[in-house]
Amino acid sequence: MNCRHCNHKLTHVFCDLQTCPPSNAMVKLDQSNFPEIYFPLKVYVCEICWLVQVDELEKAESIFNNEYTYFSSYSISWLAHAKSYADYMTNRFGYNSDSLIVEIASNDGYLLQYFKEKNIRVLGVEPTANTAQVSIDKGIENIVDFFGTKLASEKLAQKADLILGNNVLAHVPDINDFVKGVKIALKPNGVNTFEFPHLCKLVAQNQFDTIYHEHFSYLSLTAVKSIFEAQGLEIFDVQKLGTHGGSLRVFSKHKEDTSKKVEDSVSKLLEEEINLGVNTLAYYQNFQLKVDKIKYDFISFLIEQKRLGKKIIGYGAAAKGNTLLNYCGIKGNDLIDYVVDASPYKQGKLLPGSRIPVVSKEEIEIYKPDFVIIFPWNLKVEISEQLYFIKSWGGQFVTAIPCLNYS
Ligand SMILES: [Zn+2]
Repeated sequence: MNCRHCNHKLTHVFCDLQTCPPSNAMVKLDQSNFPEIYFPLKVYVCEICWLVQVDELEKAESIFNNEYTYFSSYSISWLAHAKSYADYMTNRFGYNSDSLIVEIASNDGYLLQYFKEKNIRVLGVEPTANTAQVSIDKGIENIVDFFGTKLASEKLAQKADLILGNNVLAHVPDINDFVKGVKIALKPNGVNTFEFPHLCKLVAQNQFDTIYHEHFSYLSLTAVKSIFEAQGLEIFDVQKLGTHGGSLRVFSKHKEDTSKKVEDSVSKLLEEEINLGVNTLAYYQNFQLKVDKIKYDFISFLIEQKRLGKKIIGYGAAAKGNTLLNYCGIKGNDLIDYVVDASPYKQGKLLPGSRIPVVSKEEIEIYKPDFVIIFPWNLKVEISEQLYFIKSWGGQFVTAIPCLNYS
């Protein structure tokens, strides 16, 4: 198997999470007598371009065939993030009714709606039909397809002033074709921004649960710079964000466009990464030990508390929880009774692999659990505020990452 960016042979394993089903493959109750498909989940690092990546196999198609159940608009903090981005970009680059803004993986229109409010023309690209339909219902034009060179050359009537993608760069199987498509679709003085979880945060905070099949690449600025430069795009600014446990927002432009200054932020962050050792194999080598410690601590905690007769539930039926549960080998609801999720699309189904039932938030007050495991630890503050009422019967919140914590 070769690197998806530079084609060098991949031999160095960063992390091996054994096998699990795709994290969005929720099991409907009437399918519970049927088997699930498990794929290996192994992550490699390329010693030439330092792209950290899952082994691809032939998974992409079967993974994305599932009805996608993540609707961005359900997260309040994510909506606030989208709105402040729209304000910031409009102020900085002066978009108006003559501009065209294209969002790749526009989901249900959670972000483009804020540009549309400012009378700026918007176009979404979203491959998942049922998600795109929600956006179309909001009056946002959509191309229902995967983005790449083919779409950029055949389906876009006009080039864009701004192309953006949040948490999509890491999710595309063919990252070179994707970035090449961005180059094709951008106006000569246009801007791209991409946000992605920062690899250095993953390593520093043991965020192994952000690894799942749909997440093909784990990106440092070092690797992203190499991928963009290969397609004639230059990074001219980078910002650190608190989202998803620590993300980067990378600004790029055509290399030929000299109207924008390359900010110091770029060289500073590259230097920071080099100082951490991102371009050395040593940086990647003991991650598995840290992952296994989290696994042992988490399972021990669950078993200890069950022996004491405690009631344990989970909150948030998303990818992170599924990676953790499946790597910990948890099956059925003997340790964790159920998982609560606000999305009606997930309620009444079973989590992939672990097959823990998903129910609505109302169950918490009836059941009065002793422990609520917050799987999306990056939203711990928001979720524990929402669920603060569990304190009235002595309930505690649990997070497993970066290390086991409950209070
Ligand atoms: Zn490579």
